[in-house]
Amino acid sequence: MDSDDQTVHTVPPIDVHISNDETELSVALIGCGWYSLRTHCVTLSKAKTRIAAVCARTGASRQKALAKLGTSAKEFEDVAFAINAASCALVALPASVAGRACLTAIQHGKDLISEKPAAWSPQEAEDLREAWDDRPDKDQRWRVLENWALKPGVLKVGELLDAGSGGEKYEWRCKRRRAAKGDWRREDKAVELLDVLVHLVRALRCWFGDCTVTSASLRSYEFDKVREVECSLKHENTGGFVVLELFDGDGSEESVFKCGDITWDSNRINGQKVEGDGWVSGGTRSCLTEALKSCEGNGRADPCTAWEEGMRDCAVCFAALGMGDIHPGSFYEMPVVVGTSPRSPEGCVLSLKAQPSLVVVGGGANLRKVQGDFLETRLMARVLSVEGGVVQVEAGCTLRRLRQALQARKLTLASWPYYLDATVGAAVATRSHGSSVKYGTVADFVVACRVATSTGDVWYRDDFDVTAVKGVLTVVSLRCVPLTRVKRSVATTDSLDAGWLRTIREHDHAWVWWDAASGKAAAMTLDADDGGDVYDGRNWSPYAPEVTQLLGPPVAGEDCYTAQYAVPDAAADAAVASIQKVAGAGVVEVKFLPPSSMLPGAAAMCFNVYVAAPAPAWVLGVERALAAVGGVAHPGKCCATAAV
Ligand SMILES: Cc1cc2nc3c(=O)[nH]c(=O)nc-3n(C[C@H](O)[C@H](O)[C@H](O)COP(=O)(O)OP(=O)(O)OC[C@H]3O[C@@H](n4cnc5c(N)ncnc54)[C@H](O)[C@@H]3O)c2cc1C
Repeated sequence: MDSDDQTVHTVPPIDVHISNDETELSVALIGCGWYSLRTHCVTLSKAKTRIAAVCARTGASRQKALAKLGTSAKEFEDVAFAINAASCALVALPASVAGRACLTAIQHGKDLISEKPAAWSPQEAEDLREAWDDRPDKDQRWRVLENWALKPGVLKVGELLDAGSGGEKYEWRCKRRRAAKGDWRREDKAVELLDVLVHLVRALRCWFGDCTVTSASLRSYEFDKVREVECSLKHENTGGFVVLELFDGDGSEESVFKCGDITWDSNRINGQKVEGDGWVSGGTRSCLTEALKSCEGNGRADPCTAWEEGMRDCAVCFAALGMGDIHPGSFYEMPVVVGTSPRSPEGCVLSLKAQPSLVVVGGGANLRKVQGDFLETRLMARVLSVEGGVVQVEAGCTLRRLRQALQARKLTLASWPYYLDATVGAAVATRSHGSSVKYGTVADFVVACRVATSTGDVWYRDDFDVTAVKGVLTVVSLRCVPLTRVKRSVATTDSLDAGWLRTIREHDHAWVWWDAASGKAAAMTLDADDGGDVYDGRNWSPYAPEVTQLLGPPVAGEDCYTAQYAVPDAAADAAVASIQKVAGAGVVEVKFLPPSSMLPGAAAMCFNVYVAAPAPAWVLGVERALAAVGGVAHPGKCCATAAV
């Protein structure tokens, strides 16, 4: 940011401006410096956000911002007047004046989007917290832009860690050239360190969750007249050290993170460039977009930008830098963020307490038509541990990511559902499954789970029925099996009957497509074979030609209507016969299960329709026929008769 834009709040407090249209988001851009022009203005203009005011000390800066924003807006030299002109203040000012602008916005009942660090000193943190507690409007929002929460490099390293890369220990060395020379021993000396350190702390929290900081130190020394200060921070839970060095001069900046086989160095991970990971652009757009969404009043509270999270990062840094009266570990005393996208089981309980009617969402495949407020699990997506053949995973992790993590440890699930974009929580809740008479549903692999409700946070272990568990699954432990290899084969018939289906299901995994009108069917089967492919849930793709000949053009998941009924084996002949009677029936898929959480008492044949939405009439005919023979509707598929 230009020193040019160090706008100073000079007027006494002013009256709160009550807008006629309180719900519409209008932004006052406070600060039009170098960074703001390159990041905020670009995002705001792309998001078509209404800009009510721009504020900078010079007219030239304001004009530059308006040109970048591609809009006209009132221009202000004074922060307080600019803040008063909009519903939300986006503060992008230098450290020395940012806090005062933030206080003004909070005290005047405005939504606030501020830059990280959330506060530049423990005193400022305290002032902001007090002002926030006394805010005039309880519905005000305050978001802190911490772009490393969404930085592509951070996300990529997280994926690799989840997939089993990395190691027990990490080391992170980060060198930064000091922006202004000669000011190191001034009172605000920690500012530059703080500015970088919050990034590192946030990244560590994204990868390893909240960690206890057990030791932190700051020392200044000269080394060849270059390095002047070194800050070191130890995170106990992950066994790693972060070392941050600031140095004088024009040398290049460096940041190298190493953890086992992962090296993240100058926007490259293990030598491969990460797209969009530049220091200006990396994560900034997504972060501001999240913040704007949550200020638009759609109820989203995203921990990536929640002020409490920003303060937690700051508290760790204050501790590390020996600033004020904050001790290592004290960030645990910060409140857990209450919102609709919690990051932890505790956060889920608080969200549900605040709003018990929240509907939990995984990938959302089943909830496209559901209206209302959702509790999102997408920020709880880490693979926590893999021990003794059991993987402990957060419920928001997708099956695809889980599969990758297990594969890296030479493990897999005994049977995978075809739909890998489901989250683990949703797959368990809806009893998703592959097709095998030997292995059950994902819910059958659960050995323990952690569940949040509006009244508490409970672990279920040992003897419990996962299908009877009520609440939001937050952590799930699943039994795994060693990675196996399978060989695929194909079988066909011109006249399908239940007897043929019983022969086919003898294979380790088997999936049948049946053209009910002609009687023709094709089955793909998978059997253990050391010379085959790794079993990873993708072995059905691409479909064999015998299958594609039966099917019409492919239907994308988001355009599909799918419904499935699990029929007990004893009723399978009746199910086949009644489907054959449905006029105009098309292709019906058949999958197999042993006695399982889907149908506890009996092996099941699962008849599934998968067509382009809206479903044609014959689909409802098939659904009615299956329900009439005792078919149980798959809770993860939109079965019309179940809804009737
Ligand atoms: C193209 C396609 C193919 C499919 N193939 C298969 C298949 O091969 N086998 C199969 O069995 N199913 C299959 N399904 C169904 C699919 O597995 C389920 O619909 C699955 O639940 C979708 O996952 P999601 O993450 O999108 O769920 P969402 O739609 O987000 O959630 C599904 C349900 O689970 C609940 N839920 C989500 N997270 C949690 C949680 N943490 N705790 C408690 N409840 C939670 C939600 O409230 C909702 O009721 C398929 C679906 C599609 C669209």
